[in-house]
Amino acid sequence: MLLTILGGCGAWPAAGRACSGYLVEHDGFRLLVDPGYATVPRLLERITADQVDAVFVSHGHPDHCADLNPLLRARTLRDDPPAPLPVYSLPGALDAVLALDRPGMLADAYVLHEFVAGDPLVIGPFRAQTRLLPHSVPNAGIRLTAGERVLTYTGDTGPSPDVVDLARGADLLLAEATFADQVPLDSRRHLSSARQAARRAKQAEVRHLLLTHLQPGTDAAAARAAAGAEYDGEVGIATSGLTIDLH
Ligand SMILES: [Zn+2]
Repeated sequence: MLLTILGGCGAWPAAGRACSGYLVEHDGFRLLVDPGYATVPRLLERITADQVDAVFVSHGHPDHCADLNPLLRARTLRDDPPAPLPVYSLPGALDAVLALDRPGMLADAYVLHEFVAGDPLVIGPFRAQTRLLPHSVPNAGIRLTAGERVLTYTGDTGPSPDVVDLARGADLLLAEATFADQVPLDSRRHLSSARQAARRAKQAEVRHLLLTHLQPGTDAAAARAAAGAEYDGEVGIATSGLTIDLH
């Protein structure tokens, strides 16, 4: 399983950065997880739009799904459009982004698979388990298994024992860490710090922790240090272009 980070910036795309976007490949199948703001230009530096085989969206915040619109445009506004793109999301999560263009314009560009969190999914070679994790809108964390390898991605989440369950024994936990150490009071139920993510990584006994969704202003070195105080394994920061081969 090969993971390529298209972007890992929380909230909005700061100068030179893209928001959440993760390309996960196995056996030639390309799954795009969270096409957030500014991720499509990074994607198109690597592959063509028609080479995406499926999209999974954790939740409907635009920093996780806004670039679904340019991805669908790039597939459909051509003479020989590819087959409709399978798109997986929680019910209603993509209503806003799918309504950006005039009705019907993108209708043939995708097939929407709305799932209920907890239902097992099969997406190409990936088996997926999902859990509803606490955020300000419904958010599905996902555990992807292919071959012998496991990748867990939180989407955006406040504290929940379900994160640990979803990440149990994973090769990599890709964890939202909007803040380094302290989460502001008004966000405590819905977002996490690098320190909290690292505690969960330790409890779940994952092999590697990759921090993502650091919002502009959150210092990467401080986030890494806070995580390192809680978790002995390897800690990385998700930045555009980083590729991790989970072998
Ligand atoms: Zn969010």
